[in-house]
Amino acid sequence: MSRFTEIELKCAMCKKTSRQRVLLSTSCFGSPDLDLRPAPLQRHTMSAWAQECPGCGYVAASINDESGVEPGRLGREDYVTCSGLGLGSGLAERFYRQYLLALDAGDIEQAFSAILHAAWACDDKAGEGENAVKCRKIALVLIDRLIEEKAPHNDSLRLQRADLLRRAGEFGLLLEQYKDAVFHSELHNRIIAFQLRKAKMGDARRYTVRSAERDAE
Ligand SMILES: [Zn+2]
Repeated sequence: MSRFTEIELKCAMCKKTSRQRVLLSTSCFGSPDLDLRPAPLQRHTMSAWAQECPGCGYVAASINDESGVEPGRLGREDYVTCSGLGLGSGLAERFYRQYLLALDAGDIEQAFSAILHAAWACDDKAGEGENAVKCRKIALVLIDRLIEEKAPHNDSLRLQRADLLRRAGEFGLLLEQYKDAVFHSELHNRIIAFQLRKAKMGDARRYTVRSAERDAE
């Protein structure tokens, strides 16, 4: 099971104190999704992955940590309106704001994680399918930068990217860019073969790593 508690934290931006949810422990049973979203129970602990100050709207993993965020940033329109995306999930909005602040800080890895988490929050909310796609398209821009600048030979990132493409409905791009892809491990080659088959079928649904393995057996 997952265990949470609530603690009082002072916001690093506005100095107001609020009660915040903190994850004490969780466990993980089963296979992650192909985009590396963890299996239950960890899967359902996202509400504790980022905190939001009810006073000023500051979002961070821990809102009491020194932020480096400039005064006034939290009042800018893109932050307040989540760039006008119309996200229908409060949790997705929180992750989107975390993405914006990470982008400001030049932390592409953190920005990528945050926007992917926003996509997962959209996945979990009925009627947010289009917004999940929008978040994945932003995540694709960032994962391209990560691969190009930091990890050009990282098979795991390249595979995660393939799943982002498929789940964003970019089937043509996936087929074109991965048709001759060869990875270092047999498992990864099985996964990309699975992705290509699903892309040919126009299937943008969620699958686990285990289901991709089984399908190849
Ligand atoms: Zn605050």
